[in-house]
Amino acid sequence: MSKSKSKPKPQRVLITAPHAYTLSRSDNVGDATSAASARALAHALHDAGVDVTVMVAPSDIHRSRLDRNRARASAASDPWVQSVRTEIDARTLLLDVHSFPFLERHYLLTASTPAVQTNTAPLVESLQTQAGWDVRQGSRINHIINDLSAKWAVLLETPDATSITRPWLADTVRCVKDFLDD
Ligand SMILES: [Zn+2]
Repeated sequence: MSKSKSKPKPQRVLITAPHAYTLSRSDNVGDATSAASARALAHALHDAGVDVTVMVAPSDIHRSRLDRNRARASAASDPWVQSVRTEIDARTLLLDVHSFPFLERHYLLTASTPAVQTNTAPLVESLQTQAGWDVRQGSRINHIINDLSAKWAVLLETPDATSITRPWLADTVRCVKDFLDD
């Protein structure tokens, strides 16, 4: 099959970490290590020759006051969320990185937007079978992967417990690289 007849694929990667705020481990239920993992994933993709941008939200406000991953007016008008929206174009694969304590296994959330889910399905399958990600259906509340116009998007939930070794990293890089149009 000629390249022009194959399905369009992304040509670059945008990695986001909307929950970078950390006050203390006990207070911050969720994203103690997402910023570090987002940067590690970006470095590894860059080393693999991928065109990648990483955008970590400023650690300026508690998530209970502003959740940048929720479809509310406060998030939509947030300057960081707006800059993420601006960064996304028709060639962009969006990887929205989060972390969670007491999690044994890394899992991903699929976009609930039907077109995004369909477009991203081949990547989700390879992440599941080749990089060990458990696959869960996401919901509309996940603002970043659903509402910012990315054609391909997935939310990656990484365990704080393995944030140093990141057993998912190398295989994930291979899956993402294979999914891109080269
Ligand atoms: Zn999060």
